[in-house]
Amino acid sequence: MKRYKVGIIGATGMVGQRFAVMLAEHPWFEVTVLAASPRSAGKTYKEALGSRWLIDEPLPEKLADIVVMDATADIDKISKSVDFVFCAVDMPKDEIKALEEAYAKAECPVMSNNSAHRFTEDVPMLIPELNDEHAKVIEAQRKRLGTKRGFIAVKSNCSLQSYVPALYPVDKKYKVNDVLVCTYQAISGAGKTFDTWPEMVDNVIPFIGGEEEKSEKEPLKIWGKVENGKIVNASAPSFTAQCIRVPVSNGHLAAVFVRFEQKPEKEEILEIWKNFKGRPQELQLPNAPKQFLHYFEEDNMPQTKLHRNLENGMAVSIGRLREDTQYDYKFICLSHNTLRGAAGGAVLMAELLCAEGYIEPKE
Ligand code: NAP
Repeated sequence: MKRYKVGIIGATGMVGQRFAVMLAEHPWFEVTVLAASPRSAGKTYKEALGSRWLIDEPLPEKLADIVVMDATADIDKISKSVDFVFCAVDMPKDEIKALEEAYAKAECPVMSNNSAHRFTEDVPMLIPELNDEHAKVIEAQRKRLGTKRGFIAVKSNCSLQSYVPALYPVDKKYKVNDVLVCTYQAISGAGKTFDTWPEMVDNVIPFIGGEEEKSEKEPLKIWGKVENGKIVNASAPSFTAQCIRVPVSNGHLAAVFVRFEQKPEKEEILEIWKNFKGRPQELQLPNAPKQFLHYFEEDNMPQTKLHRNLENGMAVSIGRLREDTQYDYKFICLSHNTLRGAAGGAVLMAELLCAEGYIEPKE
């Protein structure tokens, strides 16, 4: 397989650190650039992080002494030296939009974790197992940007990475009409730990800014169709969401209620989940889970702590599928928010776009 040089923009953040760990031993991608704000630029990665290393796995030795670059001031230099970048930064939305577009225009493809471009019509928002065919919109985006290589691809919000994969393949056979979902979201979704957010110990906060809107609207882009160089959002299914912060380090759980146009048998839904495979499984991409959707028969599963790391945090765990008194069915699902829901989802998206020829190494 071809080898690609990659950069991590926002390398010092929570998601950036996940990228560092996931990419340090990647079979196709070699991290040669780390970038962040001017506060970190000029320091080695280890110095810039100081005591900010937030995840359980150790800081990869081979990245520790790389000198961090300035994500904005060094755009040209970075774009020339890598084949593409991953991007996860905490900046105002309009600045992220401009930053990502500047990389794309400098002929450097951007695999983004940020929400800034999720509703740009010619930017694909990919869950690689579900809507891989949206990648074909990249051609129109390159035309708009006037680029040969450069483009932006985004991944969707972490809150929906469990219930959208569970519903999407069932919808293909038995149209889903209405979905009500309550999410129970980990504190790492806000870039925090219990040390940096002690108020979350023994607490529940019934509000996550902007999350319910994303959880209701983004699925309609995933369900959308490419028409005339744009992704036209679907008008159904209808989603309503409440998103709640709970005292959990990692893992977003969702309680889902669903109504179909034509109600399937429970066994039919279980069969669809068991047999579902997407393009990443067909292509045997390095980070593709073997079984994307895992169903647990036990009444007390899936559990956040037990199952968030299933298949290296890239699988979706589902359980408690049963009939409901108001909707047709209800069930529980779970995914790891900083792996499948953030860095892992973006790495899998990059693997897909490389395997399908949308990104080629320069040398
Ligand atoms: P974070 O821990 O706060 O990290 C923010 C990163 O942005 C740091 O590397 C920081 O660099 C960099 N940064 C801040 N201002 C900058 C500037 N002016 N120029 C260049 N870099 C700048 O945030 P996070 O949790 O990793 O989230 C990053 C992005 O991913 C956000 O858009 C978030 O919505 C998205 N996301 C997060 C999750 C999650 O589960 N955490 C899931 C999905 C998506 P310095 O260290 O130098 O300040």
